[in-house]
Amino acid sequence: MNVLLLGGTAEARELAELLEGRGVSVVTSLAGVTDRPQLPAGRVRVGGFGGAGGLAAYLGEQGIDAVVDATHPFATQISTNAAAACGQSGIRLLRLLRPGWAQHPNAAHWHWVSSMTEAKLVAEQLGQRIFLSIGRKGLASFVGLTERRVLARVIEPPDFGVPDCWQVLCARGPFDYGQEVALLTTHRIEVLVTKDSGGSTSKLDAAAELGVAVVIVRRPGSVKGVCQVGSAAEALSWLV
Ligand code: NAP
Repeated sequence: MNVLLLGGTAEARELAELLEGRGVSVVTSLAGVTDRPQLPAGRVRVGGFGGAGGLAAYLGEQGIDAVVDATHPFATQISTNAAAACGQSGIRLLRLLRPGWAQHPNAAHWHWVSSMTEAKLVAEQLGQRIFLSIGRKGLASFVGLTERRVLARVIEPPDFGVPDCWQVLCARGPFDYGQEVALLTTHRIEVLVTKDSGGSTSKLDAAAELGVAVVIVRRPGSVKGVCQVGSAAEALSWLV
């Protein structure tokens, strides 16, 4: 069986390792948006396919039997493309989507919003010292935040000049609870802005402990009609 794993997440790396351990032929595809990506076990290809048509052509050329879309919950374009390409090619597709944070004990106290634009509007009402933990792509929506102290944590620096009142912290997670408490305390953060990405809840637990307000961007909807699981182990079962 030849498996294409659309990656860029911890779950994709976990599944690649499980498949490698079973001797399944797997190639992980990365978008190529970071200079120093965390590489999975097994073969890797890097860069876009050129839309759904390019992906369909790739699936045919490489003799792919199944695709696992294990991309980030907010990477909507590649998931749409994968569904279209697999539908067109008659190739089975599985969505591996880690659970979000809606079941977190504090979720009812958070400010749930539907876009980065709305997140900015809500965050500036809630405090003066704002921590943006939303990835590099979303930062541009917050450049109007010039009357606030902003701490933006990203893996790689933004590709635009940030306002003078911003501090950019380049760091790659995961971060544990103690690290998050220390960060929020040191920077006297009043508002945490994040996306409902799922995974470790350290920053949310730290915010709860310190009384920091949380603004959280809801997940985009999933592509309809695609079989979905929530963990690498379940994806392995589906494949084998
Ligand atoms: P996106 O908006 O859904 O995709 C934009 C384009 O990037 C796609 O149309 C595709 O180009 C290419 N692409 C995306 N993922 C790819 C992959 N795994 N392999 C090959 N090409 C890929 O995606 P995004 O939000 O920019 O995220 C890019 C990657 O970063 C994803 O793989 C995702 O798993 C990872 N990531 C995203 C986030 C986030 O918050 N969005 C966070 C952490 C990690 P073509 O149309 O040319 O094929």
